[in-house]
Amino acid sequence: MVDKELLEMAIKFHGHKCPAMPLGLRAGLAAMKKLGVERTSNKELFCFLEAGPSHAQMCFGDGVQVTTGCTFGKENIEKLHYSKLGIVLVDVKRKKAVRVVIRPEFQKKGLASKFVQMRKDGIEPKDIPSDIVDPMIENIMKQPDEVLFKISEVFDYDFKGEKSTFDWYECENCGEIVFAHGIRIKDNKKLCIPCSEYQRK
Ligand SMILES: [Zn+2]
Ligand SMILES: [Zn+2]
Repeated sequence: MVDKELLEMAIKFHGHKCPAMPLGLRAGLAAMKKLGVERTSNKELFCFLEAGPSHAQMCFGDGVQVTTGCTFGKENIEKLHYSKLGIVLVDVKRKKAVRVVIRPEFQKKGLASKFVQMRKDGIEPKDIPSDIVDPMIENIMKQPDEVLFKISEVFDYDFKGEKSTFDWYECENCGEIVFAHGIRIKDNKKLCIPCSEYQRK
Protein backbone atom coordinates (compact mmCIF):
# COMPACT_ATOMS: atom_id res chain seq x y z
CA MET A 1 0.00 0.00 0.00
CA VAL A 2 2.62 2.50 1.01
CA ASP A 3 5.95 2.65 -0.68
CA LYS A 4 8.60 0.70 1.20
CA GLU A 5 11.22 3.17 0.05
CA LEU A 6 9.27 6.03 1.58
CA LEU A 7 9.15 4.23 4.93
CA GLU A 8 12.87 3.49 4.82
CA MET A 9 13.67 7.08 3.96
CA ALA A 10 11.44 8.28 6.77
CA ILE A 11 13.06 5.97 9.33
CA LYS A 12 16.46 7.25 8.26
CA PHE A 13 15.30 10.87 8.61
CA HIS A 14 13.60 10.20 11.94
CA GLY A 15 16.49 8.26 13.43
CA HIS A 16 14.80 5.22 14.96
CA LYS A 17 11.93 2.81 14.50
CA CYS A 18 8.75 3.59 16.40
CA PRO A 19 5.00 3.45 15.77
CA ALA A 20 4.20 7.17 16.00
CA MET A 21 6.36 8.26 13.08
CA PRO A 22 4.66 5.85 10.59
CA LEU A 23 1.30 7.07 11.89
CA GLY A 24 2.40 10.56 10.89
CA LEU A 25 3.39 9.25 7.46
CA ARG A 26 -0.02 7.70 7.01
CA ALA A 27 -1.85 10.79 8.35
CA GLY A 28 -0.04 12.97 5.82
CA LEU A 29 -0.87 10.58 2.97
CA ALA A 30 -4.52 10.32 4.01
CA ALA A 31 -4.90 14.10 4.14
CA MET A 32 -3.23 14.54 0.73
CA LYS A 33 -5.45 11.88 -0.81
CA LYS A 34 -8.61 13.49 0.55
CA LEU A 35 -7.52 16.91 -0.74
CA GLY A 36 -6.34 15.45 -4.05
CA VAL A 37 -2.91 17.05 -3.80
CA GLU A 38 0.69 15.99 -4.25
CA ARG A 39 3.54 16.41 -1.79
CA THR A 40 4.49 20.08 -1.70
CA SER A 41 7.79 21.28 -3.10
CA ASN A 42 7.32 24.79 -1.83
CA LYS A 43 4.35 26.39 -0.10
CA GLU A 44 1.39 24.92 -1.95
CA LEU A 45 0.42 23.16 1.28
CA PHE A 46 0.45 24.27 4.89
CA CYS A 47 0.15 21.91 7.80
CA PHE A 48 -1.09 22.57 11.32
CA LEU A 49 0.35 19.86 13.51
CA GLU A 50 -1.71 19.27 16.63
CA ALA A 51 1.12 17.52 18.48
CA GLY A 52 2.57 19.09 21.58
CA PRO A 53 5.78 18.92 23.57
CA SER A 54 7.10 15.89 25.44
CA HIS A 55 4.29 13.40 25.07
CA ALA A 56 4.34 9.70 24.35
CA GLN A 57 3.81 10.00 20.61
CA MET A 58 5.52 13.17 19.49
CA CYS A 59 7.47 11.36 16.75
CA PHE A 60 4.28 11.70 14.66
CA GLY A 61 5.37 15.09 13.32
CA ASP A 62 8.43 13.71 11.54
CA GLY A 63 6.27 11.32 9.52
CA VAL A 64 3.94 14.15 8.57
CA GLN A 65 6.86 16.23 7.32
CA VAL A 66 8.19 13.41 5.15
CA THR A 67 4.93 12.69 3.32
CA THR A 68 3.44 16.15 3.00
CA GLY A 69 6.65 18.04 2.31
CA CYS A 70 5.50 20.57 4.91
CA THR A 71 8.67 21.04 6.89
CA PHE A 72 10.00 23.20 9.67
CA GLY A 73 12.76 24.31 7.30
CA LYS A 74 10.29 25.65 4.76
CA GLU A 75 8.09 27.00 7.55
CA ASN A 76 4.94 25.56 6.07
CA ILE A 77 4.15 23.60 9.19
CA GLU A 78 3.16 24.93 12.58
CA LYS A 79 2.76 23.14 15.88
CA LEU A 80 -0.52 23.88 17.64
CA HIS A 81 0.58 22.24 20.92
CA TYR A 82 -2.75 20.50 21.49
CA SER A 83 -0.88 17.27 22.35
CA LYS A 84 -3.03 15.31 19.91
CA LEU A 85 -2.07 13.15 16.98
CA GLY A 86 -3.88 15.16 14.37
CA ILE A 87 -3.18 17.46 11.46
CA VAL A 88 -5.04 20.04 9.46
CA LEU A 89 -3.63 20.12 5.96
CA VAL A 90 -4.39 23.22 3.89
CA ASP A 91 -4.32 23.47 0.11
CA VAL A 92 -3.25 27.12 0.12
CA LYS A 93 -4.24 28.11 -3.45
CA ARG A 94 -7.57 26.31 -3.57
CA LYS A 95 -8.33 27.49 0.00
CA LYS A 96 -9.42 24.04 1.09
CA ALA A 97 -8.40 21.97 4.09
CA VAL A 98 -8.93 18.62 5.73
CA ARG A 99 -8.41 17.42 9.28
CA VAL A 100 -7.05 13.97 9.98
CA VAL A 101 -6.81 12.63 13.52
CA ILE A 102 -5.97 9.21 14.88
CA ARG A 103 -8.97 7.14 16.00
CA PRO A 104 -9.06 6.87 19.79
CA GLU A 105 -9.60 3.09 19.57
CA PHE A 106 -6.44 2.67 17.54
CA GLN A 107 -4.42 5.07 19.66
CA LYS A 108 -5.44 3.28 22.88
CA LYS A 109 -4.13 -0.01 21.51
CA GLY A 110 -0.81 1.66 20.77
CA LEU A 111 -0.64 3.23 24.21
CA ALA A 112 -1.26 -0.17 25.80
CA SER A 113 1.52 -1.79 23.77
CA LYS A 114 4.73 -3.31 25.04
CA PHE A 115 6.58 -0.61 23.10
CA VAL A 116 5.00 2.23 25.07
CA GLN A 117 5.46 0.27 28.32
CA MET A 118 9.18 -0.03 27.60
CA ARG A 119 9.39 3.67 26.70
CA LYS A 120 7.73 4.46 30.04
CA ASP A 121 10.39 2.37 31.72
CA GLY A 122 12.95 4.67 30.17
CA ILE A 123 14.16 2.45 27.34
CA GLU A 124 15.19 4.42 24.26
CA PRO A 125 13.37 3.57 21.01
CA LYS A 126 16.62 2.38 19.41
CA ASP A 127 17.04 -0.19 22.21
CA ILE A 128 13.58 -1.71 21.77
CA PRO A 129 13.87 -5.06 19.98
CA SER A 130 12.75 -5.31 16.35
CA ASP A 131 10.34 -8.12 17.15
CA ILE A 132 8.35 -5.65 19.23
CA VAL A 133 8.42 -2.59 17.01
CA ASP A 134 8.49 -4.12 13.49
CA PRO A 135 5.05 -5.77 13.69
CA MET A 136 3.57 -2.49 14.96
CA ILE A 137 5.02 -0.58 12.02
CA GLU A 138 3.89 -3.27 9.57
CA ASN A 139 0.39 -3.15 10.98
CA ILE A 140 0.22 0.65 10.71
CA MET A 141 1.47 0.58 7.13
CA LYS A 142 -1.11 -1.95 5.98
CA GLN A 143 -4.30 -0.77 7.72
CA PRO A 144 -6.86 1.11 5.63
CA ASP A 145 -7.04 4.86 6.34
CA GLU A 146 -10.48 4.51 7.96
CA VAL A 147 -9.16 2.12 10.61
CA LEU A 148 -6.37 4.48 11.60
CA PHE A 149 -7.99 7.89 11.25
CA LYS A 150 -11.04 10.05 11.43
CA ILE A 151 -10.89 12.07 8.22
CA SER A 152 -13.03 15.19 7.96
CA GLU A 153 -14.81 16.34 4.85
CA VAL A 154 -12.88 18.91 2.84
CA PHE A 155 -13.74 22.38 4.13
CA ASP A 156 -13.03 25.98 3.13
CA TYR A 157 -9.96 27.49 4.68
CA ASP A 158 -8.49 30.82 3.71
CA PHE A 159 -4.92 30.60 4.86
CA LYS A 160 -2.99 33.82 5.20
CA GLY A 161 0.64 32.95 5.72
CA GLU A 162 3.41 35.37 6.38
CA LYS A 163 5.13 36.38 3.16
CA SER A 164 8.81 35.44 2.95
CA THR A 165 11.18 38.30 2.89
CA PHE A 166 14.26 38.75 0.77
CA ASP A 167 15.22 41.96 2.59
CA TRP A 168 18.35 41.61 4.60
CA TYR A 169 20.64 43.68 6.77
CA GLU A 170 24.06 43.39 8.30
CA CYS A 171 23.84 43.41 12.08
CA GLU A 172 25.59 46.57 13.23
CA ASN A 173 27.27 44.70 16.04
CA CYS A 174 28.38 41.27 14.74
CA GLY A 175 28.24 41.99 11.00
CA GLU A 176 26.32 38.80 10.21
CA ILE A 177 23.51 38.79 7.64
CA VAL A 178 20.00 38.86 9.12
CA PHE A 179 16.70 38.74 7.23
CA ALA A 180 14.21 41.49 7.99
CA HIS A 181 11.95 39.64 10.48
CA GLY A 182 14.97 39.07 12.71
CA ILE A 183 16.13 42.67 12.99
CA ARG A 184 15.69 44.48 16.30
CA ILE A 185 16.31 48.19 16.76
CA LYS A 186 18.24 49.10 19.88
CA ASP A 187 19.86 52.51 20.53
CA ASN A 188 19.09 53.38 16.90
CA LYS A 189 21.12 50.43 15.67
CA LYS A 190 19.84 47.56 13.57
CA LEU A 191 20.89 44.45 15.47
CA CYS A 192 20.38 40.70 15.23
CA ILE A 193 18.34 39.06 18.00
CA PRO A 194 21.30 37.74 20.07
CA CYS A 195 23.18 41.06 19.81
CA SER A 196 20.06 43.02 20.83
CA GLU A 197 19.59 40.67 23.80
CA TYR A 198 15.96 40.42 22.76
CA GLN A 199 14.23 37.59 24.63
CA ARG A 200 11.59 35.61 22.78
CA LYS A 201 9.76 34.85 26.07
ZN1 LIG B 1 10.05 7.96 16.92
ZN1 LIG C 1 24.60 40.53 15.66
